[in-house]
Amino acid sequence: MTLYRATIVDTPRNPFDGDPADALQADQDGGLLVRDGIIIARGTFATLRAAHPREPVTELAGGLLVPGFVDTHVHYPQIRAIGGLGMPLLDWLERCALPEESRLADSAYAAAVADEFLDGLLSCGTTSALVFGSHFPSAMDVLFDGALRRGLNVTSGLVLSDRILRPDLLCSPADAMADSMALIDRWHGRGRLRYAVTPRFSLSTSDEILEVCGELMQGADVMFTSHINENLAEVASVAELFPGSRDYLDTYDKHGLVTARSVLAHNVHASDAELAVLGGNGAFVAHCPTSNSALGSGLFPLRRHVEHGVGVALGSDVGAGTGLFLPKEGLQAYFMQQLLGGDGLPLTPAHLLYLSTAAGATALGIADRVGDFTAGKEFDAVWLRPAAGTTYAVNLASAADIPDALARTFALATSSDVAAVWLRGEQVAVDSGRAVATS
Ligand SMILES: [Zn+2]
Repeated sequence: MTLYRATIVDTPRNPFDGDPADALQADQDGGLLVRDGIIIARGTFATLRAAHPREPVTELAGGLLVPGFVDTHVHYPQIRAIGGLGMPLLDWLERCALPEESRLADSAYAAAVADEFLDGLLSCGTTSALVFGSHFPSAMDVLFDGALRRGLNVTSGLVLSDRILRPDLLCSPADAMADSMALIDRWHGRGRLRYAVTPRFSLSTSDEILEVCGELMQGADVMFTSHINENLAEVASVAELFPGSRDYLDTYDKHGLVTARSVLAHNVHASDAELAVLGGNGAFVAHCPTSNSALGSGLFPLRRHVEHGVGVALGSDVGAGTGLFLPKEGLQAYFMQQLLGGDGLPLTPAHLLYLSTAAGATALGIADRVGDFTAGKEFDAVWLRPAAGTTYAVNLASAADIPDALARTFALATSSDVAAVWLRGEQVAVDSGRAVATS
């Protein structure tokens, strides 16, 4: 067993239900007892030390120990395509994202991209992710293989499209079924891997492909993910392509794709009717703040989601998003709610930590294993500790209490402050140059 000593903070309760201050659990001099990757006990360091005087102690002095971040929407084939500014969604897809996605047809290219992507997640403290995959089965094999070797919680799937995109990214409904089934057989349930049925969006998928998706969802205990209501031009095109559908959500819902195992990205331009169906069906929405800002997609109506009982978590949406470090998404989400004025939902530090960790675990259906530090869960964690003398360090030292320290962390921390990461109790090498002392 190992006893970790740190300033420990997590959100075992949902701050959107009741007083946000009650959602935060924090110990200034806290302890976590971990055996075989599982948290056995949590409390103050003094209490746990008294009960376990002989166990080795890992001292994590300074900074904050938080649960590993959970990214609920991030595109693996776009890790080399970040920073294409100045375009709305459909232009950006055509000029920046899709040409790069085509290159993953080459397995060697895809393998290099998968390594960059997965190591990028870990170096940003992301330990679980719902990953928007590639259009090529061979590229999915290298992603799953890399995630399995690293011990990451990755849920992902082959991206399906049969119209509008470049021809090399299209597939037939028959191939969509056969290739998805083969990938589910090979990877779903291996280690911490799970499969997600993934039509790119209704714009590029006919009813035939969406019907295949419905059959795949019925045949296995897999997840579903796609895009929805991101951009007004996209919403208008979908309405033209599906004249018989009530709204954008209905294009998925009529094929049985809006369930408690569904995570839909964006939903910036949602109607009340769509929010009612999402809430009623227990589906989740991945809010992607830097992507929505970079593409000018709009200001996310978080308050209306919460009022309709729709669970929301954060996604980086790389490569439209501006990086993999999830606290940056938290800060941008906070900004956007401020800019919405009376329509916004003011976010506290507890909300930001919840949205970056436990909310994502809930959306991915893995909250029984990860997302907070409750005893019995797997020890996936990030130690954020700034280098001495940095503005972040100065502000942590000036913080009045842990919520204040957390607010300053969301304002100031970057991926260079990720001092250590653990996956199921195994410390991952991150390029921080800082060692963890064991006494
Ligand atoms: Zn996306």
